[in-house]
Amino acid sequence: MSLTVGEMIRRDEERRKLMARVQVDECLSCKRLMGEKHVATVPRPTMSELEDIMMDNINCYATDGCDVEQDGMCEHGHQSWMLKMGLT
Ligand SMILES: [Zn+2]
Ligand SMILES: [Zn+2]
Repeated sequence: MSLTVGEMIRRDEERRKLMARVQVDECLSCKRLMGEKHVATVPRPTMSELEDIMMDNINCYATDGCDVEQDGMCEHGHQSWMLKMGLT
């Protein structure tokens, strides 16, 4: 069985939406409560910064500044900026 690109993108968006919510009582980083959306606590990297991260294949940072894999999220549930911006 194979998925169309459209289906894959939709699944990805759903996953992202799910991941964007706080899964614990209170997020230690952004102080949002369970079920609320995490908010970024650090400024968004510039496109050229993101390009460097991709080119060098190094860890990205999450929307709260934690060091994470490019398509990962940190222990607080914050996604990497690349994931957040749909670049992975
Ligand atoms: Zn948070
Ligand atoms: Zn974090």
